[in-house]
Amino acid sequence: MLSVVGPVYNESASIAEFHSRLVAVLRGMGIPYEIVYVNDGSQDSTLDRLREFSRQDPCVRVLDFSRNFGHQLAITAGMDHAEGSACVIMDTDGQDPPELIPRLYESWRAGHEIVYCVRTKREGETWFKKATAALFYRIIRRITNVDIPPDTGDFRLVDRRVLDVLSDMREVHRFMRGLTCWTGFKHARVEYSRAGRLAGTTHYPFWKMVRFALDGITAFSHAPLRWVTFCGLGASVISAVIGVWVLYVKIFNDQAVRGWTSLMVLVLFMGGMNLIAMGVIGEYLARIFDEVKRRPLYIVRERIGFGDARGGSDPAARRELLRR
Ligand code: UDP
Ligand code: MG
Repeated sequence: MLSVVGPVYNESASIAEFHSRLVAVLRGMGIPYEIVYVNDGSQDSTLDRLREFSRQDPCVRVLDFSRNFGHQLAITAGMDHAEGSACVIMDTDGQDPPELIPRLYESWRAGHEIVYCVRTKREGETWFKKATAALFYRIIRRITNVDIPPDTGDFRLVDRRVLDVLSDMREVHRFMRGLTCWTGFKHARVEYSRAGRLAGTTHYPFWKMVRFALDGITAFSHAPLRWVTFCGLGASVISAVIGVWVLYVKIFNDQAVRGWTSLMVLVLFMGGMNLIAMGVIGEYLARIFDEVKRRPLYIVRERIGFGDARGGSDPAARRELLRR
């Protein structure tokens, strides 16, 4: 069976169109399938639509979150509940074309355990988003030791083996595209041109993207901490040189008071450096704090279309059952 996981947040304007395209593709493939929609705390009528799909088609299952937990956790929940031998993860706003699924499936049948989709073109997105995304993927590639391919999103197909590994990784700040690459396995890539949204606007405004980028970097790299150390070392060397000069002026020269400008520059510079260093350490510390709290990653209010015989309501128990 092939599972399709789709996170849905306030997509009532376009979810019906997406769903009918997806179902057409899956039926055309002639294989058993399930669709797991995760309603990530939508405030519009998205949930009603999803209920309707599930009523019409027993292959549609819906997880309804108790509030908005974010895209990455919605994907996580969907993957935890997917029961197929392979699972496709895709956005439900029409930007990831369902028509690509047969190609992903073929590549999986050919023996690849992760088939990720590379965007060759992106329509309907601002140059700013494209430029910052391009920059981000190049930075993260440089400073992490995980080979995260540039210009890929979460649109991909993963094998059951990968699903099992991922569902055992319960870290809180989840950068899913990085985690999948981190697992290793046999990769393949499929290229596609990314369309614009069917309706509405992105749910990733600037600051949310910055946070997401920080999650990605801190989850896979200690480089920022190392930079701070190097900056500290550099600053110490400079201070030592200046210290010698200051002593020289003091001892061999009676114009010692003149140094006000250099003093101000140094104090301000060092103050700034200190704050930046503390900020970087704080970013990591905050994430450690979130991890030690060990809260559940997401809370499901209701499961729709999941038969109880298939493992009950506890995801861990379900996973155990499926593995046996
Ligand atoms: N999404 C979600 N929770 C959120 C934000 C987004 O489940 O808090 C879903 C959204 O419905 C869509 C996908 O995640 O299917 C990607 O979101 P979006 O299209 O806003 O991001 P973009 O494509 O602009 O990066
Ligand atoms: Mg989108």
